[in-house]
Amino acid sequence: MNSKSDDLKVLVVEDSKVTLKVLSTYLERMGITPLKSETGAMAIDIYHRERPDIILLDAQLPDIDGFDVALKIRALEKPEDWTAIIFLTSMSKDEDLARGIEVGGDDYLMKPISEVVLKAKVRAMHRLVEMQRSLVKVTQQLNEANAALLRLSATDGLTGIANRRMYDELSEREWRRCERMQKPFSLVMIDVDNFKLFNDKYGHQTGDECLKKVAAQVGKAAPRATDLAARYGGEEFVLVLGETDADGARWIANRLRQQVSDLNIPHYATESRHVTISCGVASVVPTPQLSLATLLKSADQALYKAKHGGRDQVGVGAYGEIE
Ligand code: GH3
Ligand code: MG
Ligand code: MG
Ligand code: MG
Repeated sequence: MNSKSDDLKVLVVEDSKVTLKVLSTYLERMGITPLKSETGAMAIDIYHRERPDIILLDAQLPDIDGFDVALKIRALEKPEDWTAIIFLTSMSKDEDLARGIEVGGDDYLMKPISEVVLKAKVRAMHRLVEMQRSLVKVTQQLNEANAALLRLSATDGLTGIANRRMYDELSEREWRRCERMQKPFSLVMIDVDNFKLFNDKYGHQTGDECLKKVAAQVGKAAPRATDLAARYGGEEFVLVLGETDADGARWIANRLRQQVSDLNIPHYATESRHVTISCGVASVVPTPQLSLATLLKSADQALYKAKHGGRDQVGVGAYGEIE
């Protein structure tokens, strides 16, 4: 809607032909060509088609009374196209005025209606309609910004997979879910082999590119909705695998190890001459006496074993097995 009043869509609902004519004349003098209805049913019909900005609504109509018309319109309307409703009433009882506001009216005009008052109210409502619309727009922008922030705060900037914060939050949740269901819960710790030497030789930027490629594989390794793949920090990643036992987790870790190896990223300082990872797996059926932190240490210990076993391999540790 434009702020010029000749672009303003006003619907007048009034069964008295004389009043309808008078109001239309007043509006025309404001540069507004109003839509007109003599019945409630037709008003709702016009509302559907035209989505007016303002409705001047007679409280007493021959078919559906104005209060019910307002209720129907409020039920139909979307927040992004709010319509201002001004009740036209000859009733002077306060309760009727209150009722008009209660059913969704925004203001009222007492008959006989003065041209000056009508103009002032239409202008005021016009302002409100515009404010409401810009509020809706700002709210939409805020929601979008919030969603983007949430995405940013959940993902790692370099690799685009979940970050440590997400790991902390979701792993605890999944741990408790498995505890309730008495299902095994597994962690896989993943660490790029001899990555310091990779960086030293090929440069930090190539190191970053390498991490992105490895992270993409890590991200695909655990596709179930309850799984989580996250960058734990530096060149370390972690998989959270709910409802997965040690065998299942070792299988997933091994497949991932193979997939990273298959990327064939040259690396002078590994045995295979390309980038490899080592993994540490630990599993347990969670109980209130056990802790996720201990399981993580156990997975770390298993990773340490894999490193000492010659790297490019998967180590499996028992819960509580900590050096
Ligand atoms: P190991 O096989 O025992 O894991 O040896 P390593 O060299 O991989 O282990 P270390 O922990 O000594 O080195 C990790 C290296 O990872 C050091 C650090 O510079 C590098 N690194 C950590 N984060 C990033 C990153 O975001 N980008 C790049 N390019 N390098 C990173
Ligand atoms: Mg490391
Ligand atoms: Mg290390
Ligand atoms: Mg490493």
